[in-house]
Amino acid sequence: MPDIKIVPLGAGQDVGRSCILVTLGGKNIMLDCGMHMGFNDDRRFPDFSYITGGKGTLTEYIDCVIISHFHLDHCGALPYMSEMVGFEGPIYMTHPTKAIAPILLEDYRKITVDKKGEVNFFTSQMIKDCLKKVVAVNLHQTVFVDDELQIKAYYAGHVLGAGMFYIRAGTESVLYTGDYNMTPDRHLGAAWVDKCRPTLLITESTYATTIRDSKRCRERDFLKKVHETIERGGKVLIPVFALGRAQELCILLESYWDRMNLKVPIYFSTGLTEKATNYYKLFITWTNQKIKNTFVDRNLFEFKHIKPFNRATIDNPGAMVVFATPGMLHGGLSLEIFKKWCTSEKNTIIMPGYCVAGTVGHKILSGMRKIELQPGKIVEIKMQVQYMSFSAHADAKGIMQLIRMCEPENVMLVHGEAKKMEFLKSKIKQELNLDCFNPANGETVVISSRPSLPVDMSLKLLKHKTEIGDSASPTPKCSRIIHGALLMKDSKIRLLEQEEALQELGLPKHELRFTSTVMLQNACRSEKLTMTRLHDHLKKLLSTHSVKMTSDGHILIESVLVKAQKNAESTTESDGDDSSIATKSILVSWSYEDEDLGSYLMETLKNGLPPPTIKAK
Ligand code: ZN
Ligand code: ZN
Repeated sequence: MPDIKIVPLGAGQDVGRSCILVTLGGKNIMLDCGMHMGFNDDRRFPDFSYITGGKGTLTEYIDCVIISHFHLDHCGALPYMSEMVGFEGPIYMTHPTKAIAPILLEDYRKITVDKKGEVNFFTSQMIKDCLKKVVAVNLHQTVFVDDELQIKAYYAGHVLGAGMFYIRAGTESVLYTGDYNMTPDRHLGAAWVDKCRPTLLITESTYATTIRDSKRCRERDFLKKVHETIERGGKVLIPVFALGRAQELCILLESYWDRMNLKVPIYFSTGLTEKATNYYKLFITWTNQKIKNTFVDRNLFEFKHIKPFNRATIDNPGAMVVFATPGMLHGGLSLEIFKKWCTSEKNTIIMPGYCVAGTVGHKILSGMRKIELQPGKIVEIKMQVQYMSFSAHADAKGIMQLIRMCEPENVMLVHGEAKKMEFLKSKIKQELNLDCFNPANGETVVISSRPSLPVDMSLKLLKHKTEIGDSASPTPKCSRIIHGALLMKDSKIRLLEQEEALQELGLPKHELRFTSTVMLQNACRSEKLTMTRLHDHLKKLLSTHSVKMTSDGHILIESVLVKAQKNAESTTESDGDDSSIATKSILVSWSYEDEDLGSYLMETLKNGLPPPTIKAK
């Protein structure tokens, strides 16, 4: 059936736990398999029992899983789904995602099992087994999941290896964006997709209501804060996630230090982050053009000023800048350093990303200045706290830009807050006249696509069209009208040039030409009156057809069938075959004709006589 069915198990009117089920062309696809950072109970993972309804295994229901990028809100539940719930089918992701996702999953597992003591969680071995089911894909490579289902990845920016996925089964198609950004940053390029015209575009909408100030402004503010702090001898702590913004901010500071000839040390906590930087080197083709170009003489990820962090340096006196994981100050080195530095007003902490409720990062960002960092020990935060959004998501402008880029028939918003979605939804409806959906988790949306009819087009017509396109239209984006005849013959539909169609049908060419003009006194009113009377008359005569009067005084008869008898009596040829009667469709439009002409024309149409030319006046 040409219907697409969608139900989000996560990321429906929410950020986190992305997991969207799509059915198209009889195939079931799971888009992302993420976890929710904000929950520790069973809301952390998608409810996979929804799919099976308690009967059978996931493998029987799901044809394939597609993971858009390595962030845990998009892949965090994957080993749980494939190894604990049980899924044997293929899982698709890009090469960098396949390389980096297991590191983040292992890190997440360690924090959950080792530190929080959770049992019944996936093991290291499960992560490995899960990865065995992963098929890595290249950008723009069409991958056939089976004979009917194909997928293709496009560049999404956002983080290293992030992909948007185009999915096609039969005549239906879906484009799923995952997370993306439409402006290049210092280490990645902007998202790009061709005019693939999907039946449905499913897009993230994290910043649905935001039109962000330029990146340059944010970067300037960031550098200013860092510089002010080190100038007064203070220390700067920048908690980061291992991958993504960390690399971008390093590049930014590195070039600033060069430019300003600064000597203050910058440290980068090693381990995960160092490994991550190596992946950028490994997947250099996934970074932006500037990095690719610079890479020839200098690897931008080899830093001159940035050194690996050593725990002993925490207590060193004097200014320094430290990048440390994790990004939300919920444990690890960044929290350890924070505890030591937070009591001095000389120091600054810069939070470059979003923090989930419950973390120390979230507390200080919401303005709390007295925090219980250890049981029974309340600390007063005196260091300066700065939030600077360096998240790489498309803003409202970027989302609209992507919609125009791929020209979908319908749009669905996920990975955003319900209230903000409403704003964008009305914008999409108003400006682009597209249907837009934003289902909540567990809510099913059915989209019926417009049935399409394949039509063969004659080469002659196609050539003619291209010729027109080359010379007449300087903007290839504009759609052009092709004049041709649609011919239905031998259970085939073909679009031909008029001449070709006539030839095919063995019909002589004839023209309908009306040059009669009625001169009337009281011009305006009378013309209108004549038209109205003519219109009423035609409507009565042609009760089975649509007869309309347009506001500019034309009468339109749509799809009037004109019976043109082959070799009508006036023509010279006669092979005696009077049984072959062909029909064709015409659109008749005329204005200011007199009543007699109207009824004459009707007689002509009804009786199928070759209409003569009627002389004026
Ligand atoms: Zn993401
Ligand atoms: Zn996300």
